[in-house]
This record gives sequence, C-alpha cells and structure tokens, in this order.
Amino acid sequence: MEKYSPSIQRLISEFNSLPGIGPATAKNVAFHVLDMPQEKADGLIDAIKTARSSTCRCSICQNFTDSDPCSVCTDAMRDKSTVLVVESPKDVAIFERTHEYKGLYHVLHGVFDPLKNKSLEDTTISQLINRLSQNSEINEVIIATNQNAEGNATALYISRLVSPSGIKVTRIASGLPMGSNIENADDITLMSALNGRVNLS
Ligand SMILES: [Zn+2]
Repeated sequence: MEKYSPSIQRLISEFNSLPGIGPATAKNVAFHVLDMPQEKADGLIDAIKTARSSTCRCSICQNFTDSDPCSVCTDAMRDKSTVLVVESPKDVAIFERTHEYKGLYHVLHGVFDPLKNKSLEDTTISQLINRLSQNSEINEVIIATNQNAEGNATALYISRLVSPSGIKVTRIASGLPMGSNIENADDITLMSALNGRVNLS
C-alpha cells in the first residue's frame, strides 16, 4: 500500500467514507483537490460549509430546505390531500422534475435495512404518522420507496401503521422493475409507476 503524508491520507480516507467512492476514486479526487488552484479549492470548501450551515430539514415534510417550512409545503397551489413518501431528498427532486405530481411529500431519510443496521427509528416514519394525525386534509399516502426488499418492507410497515386511520395507502407499481431505484427511472417510467399505483390498505 502506498504511503502518503498524514494530511493526504486523511483527505483520502474522508473521500473514501462517502457513498459510492471506493479507495481508487478517493485517491484520484484527493489529488485532484490538491492540484486545484487555491480559489477553486476555497470555493469547494465554502460550498460545503454554506450548504451545511444554511440547510435544515423542513419541519413538515423533512426534505432539506434553506427555509422552514419548505417551498413545496408552503405552496398554495399544491394538492394538500396527497402525500408522496420517498426515501431521500434526491427522490423529491426527481418527481419534481416531471412536473406531473402536484401533491406534497414526506422524506424518510432511509428505509428499514437490517444489513446496514438501519432500523425504523432511523427514518422519519414517526414524524409521518404525527403529521397524518394532525392533518385531516390528507386522504392518500402514496409510498414511493425503491422497489427492493428494504423498500417493500418499509412500505408494508407504513401501510400497517396508516391504514387504521382510514387514509388510503397506495404503492407505486407498474413500470419500475424489481430491484430498481427511483433515481435511475426516466420521467415516463416514473409517471406510469405513479399513475399505476396499487392499494396497500
Ligand atoms: Zn416541506
């Protein structure tokens, strides 16, 4: 294994701890950063610092936002009767890209995943249940977790919690192959999955 100075080794380790970045990529990115002009590196540091300090979770939908409540939750034109439940803030951006979905969101920030030590408490399911109990306008919860074992288990769990309240629970279905992630779906597939949703309750 190559030997680097402690500061370079630390930079490589930090990049390597990020999702989707293996040791080789971490090394490439670290040396890319070291080769950057100072102002570029300062811009990168400032972007991370600013995003970290000015971004919070929306107290209603739990999506990342610069102002709480977020622009979707405060938009008078949105359909307040429907909540689309997604795993991550990235998924909200993907549904918004289609300009078809007009309802509200709830971001879980994860799913039940025993292999990664992710329990249901690591998600915002309890905030969702509180939100539904305090808001009588909501009459449908559409679960758009990814189509894999963890996403399906989480969808089933939510439907069991929500169904007794009488709120309709649906799951996006057709078009998305098993094992696929929302973020890899194209707009048309995504909209057909949304329109072809099936009842869980
Ligand atoms: Zn919000």
